[in-house]
Amino acid sequence: MGEKVKDQLHKICELKIFPLQTPKSKRCYMPWILKKKCIACKKCVKQCPADAISMSKDKAVIDDSTCIFCGKCMKVCPVHAILKDRDKVKVDVESNIKSFLKKMKKHNGSATKSHILKRELKQLERQKKIIQGTIRELKRFKP
Ligand code: SF4
Ligand code: SF4
Repeated sequence: MGEKVKDQLHKICELKIFPLQTPKSKRCYMPWILKKKCIACKKCVKQCPADAISMSKDKAVIDDSTCIFCGKCMKVCPVHAILKDRDKVKVDVESNIKSFLKKMKKHNGSATKSHILKRELKQLERQKKIIQGTIRELKRFKP
């Protein structure tokens, strides 16, 4: 699954339009791995009841199509590298701001900076419209 689609699904899950649940749990556990924190201990791989976690380049990877959203992997990770959707929003916002500031640092002129800011906002507005449109369409499939 592409990263963009994954991100959109994470957001949809977070919005609880389709709360992905196990019969025992009422909570939406769509886990994701903060790769830079993963120390490749493989505890999550051993713990996963659905065999949804594998290792790739010394980092744990979750197969969303196999995951049953039980949340067990999050509990065993010794470095808290497996997070919930709401954490992903925070981490992604921080990372976007970081990369934006990096771009701004390269330019001194305020006119260029204002142009970069405008462009960033335009791109984000477009992404917002794509997500909103996708959510609107997906809602039509709600049973
Ligand atoms: S939430 Fe459960 S099924 Fe999904 S990857 Fe983690 S341990 Fe496996
Ligand atoms: S338990 Fe955490 S640190 Fe260990 S492999 Fe899984 S994600 Fe990485």
